[in-house]
Amino acid sequence: MAEAKRILIVEDETSIADNISVALQLEGFGSVHCMLAGDALARLQTEAFELAIVDVGLPDMNGFELCKAIRRESDIPLIFLTARADEIDRILGLELGADDYVTKPFSPRELTTRVKAILRRARPDTAKPVDPEIPFVVDTRQATIQFRGQVLNLTRIEFLMLQTLVAHPGQVFSRGQLMHAAWEHPQVSLERSVDTHIKSLRAKLKQVDSEDDSIQTHRGLGYSLTVAG
Ligand code: CA
Repeated sequence: MAEAKRILIVEDETSIADNISVALQLEGFGSVHCMLAGDALARLQTEAFELAIVDVGLPDMNGFELCKAIRRESDIPLIFLTARADEIDRILGLELGADDYVTKPFSPRELTTRVKAILRRARPDTAKPVDPEIPFVVDTRQATIQFRGQVLNLTRIEFLMLQTLVAHPGQVFSRGQLMHAAWEHPQVSLERSVDTHIKSLRAKLKQVDSEDDSIQTHRGLGYSLTVAG
């Protein structure tokens, strides 16, 4: 039996926080809601949480500052809630130590899926061990990815898509999720173009290793990365 894990929600919009809280409860997670970053920091000092969900736009401190403050004290897994593409760029571009992000508007189910995935990774005793042989090395500062020791020549969109896959080996991403990861305005892009970028990515991986089969297609679902060493 899974014990009730406690999640800290830092979100100044009560209706959003309530939706998250209910969705988490349905999955067996207890939660605590703070409207202000200052309250969240105070609670983190005295209580144990399994994970924090942090809105980027908070009244007293932005979520990035809060993340830095949390990171000085704790390595608790952290998911950002963000409404803006430029915020996503910061989350991806800076090494803030966030584990994931979800863009508003989001479905509560999407968020709880991320929460579960992160907690599974944080608890390697119940999952397969993190594969030290993963042949990808991501450099977020330079926006480059090495595959088997060679720097891939990637477009920005290919970099963001592959970075997303590499960060969560084995996790299946829908085309919509990959679009969110890679596009400033995903709603204006066609899902089909994800397939085109995946095809191009595969060709680039095959230039390094002609046998490569790292990116798996899941029909009707999306794509995932295998880490076959
Ligand atoms: Ca807000």
